[in-house]
Amino acid sequence: MSFGPGSIQGATSPGEIDYRLARQHLVAEFRRGRLAQHEVCDAHPELVRAAREVGETSRIDCPICEDDKLVLVSYVFGPRLPSYGRCITSAKELKALARRSGEFSCYVVEVCPSCHWNHLARTFVLNPARSA
Ligand SMILES: [Zn+2]
Repeated sequence: MSFGPGSIQGATSPGEIDYRLARQHLVAEFRRGRLAQHEVCDAHPELVRAAREVGETSRIDCPICEDDKLVLVSYVFGPRLPSYGRCITSAKELKALARRSGEFSCYVVEVCPSCHWNHLARTFVLNPARSA
């Protein structure tokens, strides 16, 4: 399976669900023992690699293993980009993409490099004015 928005926990129906609630729900289900760790810690290998190499370490403890800090990884999806998106490594790169024509969406994913927990942290449209 190649990496894409569908590989990210919580990103299956963008805009339709509140992914913060979805995240809380997943964490709660795991703590109650209704979900196994492998069901919530299923980060795609590509996502784990990106987290280690270009991710931005946050101050948030992993909600699952509580052993490591979550790392934020940003992906942009849009016209003329690969279907698996482009992993953003700098703010400069993000600004350059926002100047292109067409609508680009950015997905910020939290990843735990230790246990491979992953969840959508936020999503936004890079250039809403240009798509109108
Ligand atoms: Zn973890």
